[in-house]
Amino acid sequence: PEVPAGAILLGSARRYGDRVAFVRGGEQVTYAELGHRAAQFANGLLDRGIGHGDRVALRMPNCLEYPVAYYGTLLAGAVFVPVNPLLPEAAAARQIADADAKLVVTPPDVPGICSGRSTTPPEVDIDVYADLAHLAYTGGTTGESKGVRLPHRNVVVNTLQYVCWGSGSVPAVDGQGGLVLDQVGSDEEWPTRLGTAVSINLTPWFHAMGTIAGMNALLMAGYSCTLHDRLDPAAYLADAKRLRVTMMGGAPALFAALLNSPAIHTADLSSVRSIGSGAAPMPLEMTRRLHALAPDALISEGYGLTEVTMGATAGPAFASGVRKVGTVGVPTFDTEVRIDGATAPGERGEVCIRGPQVMTGYHNRPDATAEVLIDGWLHTGDVGIFDEDGYLSIVDRMKDMLLYKGYNVYPRELEELLAAQEGVLAAAVVGKPDASVGELPVAFVVPANGAVSPEKLMAAVNEQVVAYKRLRDVLLVDQIPVSAAGKVLKRELRGRLS
Ligand code: ATP
Repeated sequence: PEVPAGAILLGSARRYGDRVAFVRGGEQVTYAELGHRAAQFANGLLDRGIGHGDRVALRMPNCLEYPVAYYGTLLAGAVFVPVNPLLPEAAAARQIADADAKLVVTPPDVPGICSGRSTTPPEVDIDVYADLAHLAYTGGTTGESKGVRLPHRNVVVNTLQYVCWGSGSVPAVDGQGGLVLDQVGSDEEWPTRLGTAVSINLTPWFHAMGTIAGMNALLMAGYSCTLHDRLDPAAYLADAKRLRVTMMGGAPALFAALLNSPAIHTADLSSVRSIGSGAAPMPLEMTRRLHALAPDALISEGYGLTEVTMGATAGPAFASGVRKVGTVGVPTFDTEVRIDGATAPGERGEVCIRGPQVMTGYHNRPDATAEVLIDGWLHTGDVGIFDEDGYLSIVDRMKDMLLYKGYNVYPRELEELLAAQEGVLAAAVVGKPDASVGELPVAFVVPANGAVSPEKLMAAVNEQVVAYKRLRDVLLVDQIPVSAAGKVLKRELRGRLS
C-alpha cells in the first residue's frame, strides 16, 4: 500500500485500541493513547514551525516517550534521525550537524511538545517515494558512520516484509488511511501464529532492527511490549517467566548475555513461540542452547543492514518447508539477492540486494553512494553463499576477512569452532599483520570459568581446519567489545594487536 509510515501507528491505534502497547515498570500506554500522543507531538512540532522535510533527531534510550516522538515526527511529515544516546558528545554532534537537524529531542522534552495539542493527526502531503521518513546512520562498526536516506515507502515496505512473514497476514488500508493487517487462515491459526502476543523489547530503537522489527512490526501485529532500557539478564528473564512471554527478539549479544547469566538456570522460556535474531551472526551453539530452553519456539535469523532500511532475508518462521539453522533464510518478498560473481549454488561472493527497501543513497556522500549502488543493486560488503534450496548464509564481512599468503580466511568459521569448545563463553578472531604472510589469525576468547587452556583450544580448532586457516594465538580476555547494536568491534581488537 502506498501510505506514509505514520499510517502504521494510525491503523494499529484504531484496530487495537485499549490493548496495552508498551509497559515499562509501573507505567503503560495503550494503542489508542499512543495514537493520540503521537498526533499531539506532530501538532506540537508544526506549532514550532517544524514540518515537512525537517529533520528531527531523537537522542533517547528505549522509553515510553520514544514511540510518541517517533510516530509524531513521521505524522508531521518530518524526518526521523535516530541518535544513539550512548554516543560520545562529539560523535553525536557530528551526526546531528550532518543531518542538519532542526530539533534534538530527549525524553523530558516530549511532554512539553505534546501537551495541550489536538489529538487529531495533522493533514500533511507526503510523497511516499521521495520524502524521507528516516535518515538513519550506519553503526560505524567498520568505519565512519554514514547517513542513509530512507523514504516513507521503504519503511512501510520493510515493516510489512517482516510482519507479514511473521504472522501469515496481508496488509490493507482502513477507511481513514491507516495501515492494518488482514488475517489469512482460520481463527484457530491466528492466535497460535501470533502467540498471545507479548514481547520483551530490548532491541535499541535507534538501530534499524529496533525501529522496524522492534517497534513498527510489533505494533502492526498487536503485541504488548515490555520495555527494558538496559540489559539486566535477571530482570529480563524474570519478566519472561512472569508475563509468559511469547516473542523474544534481539542481536546474538543479547541472547549471549541471557544464556551466560546465572539467572538462566531458573528461567522459564516455555511460553516462547518465536525467537528472532539479526544484526550479527548467531553461532550454531547458541541456537542449540536456545532451542533446549524454548523447545516450542521457532528460532529464525534475519539479515540486513541500515542501507536496506533493516532487512533483506529471514528464516521462514511459519513456512511449511524446511528451516535451515545457520542460514539467514530466504529473501523477503519483492527482494532480489544475488551473489556477485557466483554462477552456481555453493559459490562465494559479495551479497548484492535489489528491492523496494534499498536506500535511495547516502546523505551528503555521492561518491560513497556511487560505490555501493550500481544499476539499482546494493553491494553490501558481506560475503555470502546460497545453497541449492535458495537459503543464504553470511560467511563474513569482506572487511573482516584475512589474507594469509593470498588465501582468504573467514574469521567466522574459526569463531564457530571456538564457540563449540567446552569452557568458551565468547570468541572473536581478527588478523594480526605479519610482514611475510600478510595476516595471522588470532583469537580473543572469554573463558566460561577461567579454566581453559589457550594451547588446548588452539589445538582443538586447528585440527579441524586446513593449514592456512590455523590460529596462531589465543588470548584470554574478560570480555569482547560489542557496539550498542550488538556487533563485535573488530577494529578495537585489531588495535590491541598492533
Ligand atoms: P558500518 O557499515 O558503518 O560499519 P554497521 O555495519 O554496524 O556499520 P549496520 O547497518 O548496523 O551497520 O550493520 C549491517 C551489517 O551487519 C551487515 O552488513 C552484516 O555484516 C551484519 N549482519 C546483519 N545481520 C547479520 C546476520 N544475521 N548474520 C551475519 N551478519 C549480519
